[in-house]
Amino acid sequence: MDNDSQKNAVETFTRFLESKGLRKTSERFAILEKVWSMQVHFDVETLYNELERDAYHVSRATVYNTIDLLMECGLLRKHQFNSQPAQYEVALGSHFHLVCTQCGKVKEVEADEVISQVMSRRYTAFTPAYVSAYLYGLCSSCIRQNKKKIKPTK
Ligand SMILES: [Zn+2]
Ligand SMILES: [Zn+2]
Repeated sequence: MDNDSQKNAVETFTRFLESKGLRKTSERFAILEKVWSMQVHFDVETLYNELERDAYHVSRATVYNTIDLLMECGLLRKHQFNSQPAQYEVALGSHFHLVCTQCGKVKEVEADEVISQVMSRRYTAFTPAYVSAYLYGLCSSCIRQNKKKIKPTK
């Protein structure tokens, strides 16, 4: 993640907290920084553990609360893949998620053409902001495993 996007995120978050009359605590900004350093989707528990590993002690409540604030000001997106706990990612660009229905693995793919098509359409009384799409199916290792399972035994 580049520095510019993080700098913008900090500015957005600062303005948001000010507009809401919320305190600009160092915890909130430390969590934002950590979120920006996460390379993949993460759940709240993973984020909490990462902060602990950095010896940055915040309460779970603060982590949950800050995630909610980051969602509210549009810096984070929430995903629900299968029955996994909610996953988050920073709100940059649009991509598709290929979700394996068997093992739950999630892969991201670019789909610029489809996305720009969907985004440039006109919608009645609606202005789109971004595209979030899930494609459900089977990953290659699950397909391989399933083939092994149905192989007839001698
Ligand atoms: Zn799989
Ligand atoms: Zn994603």
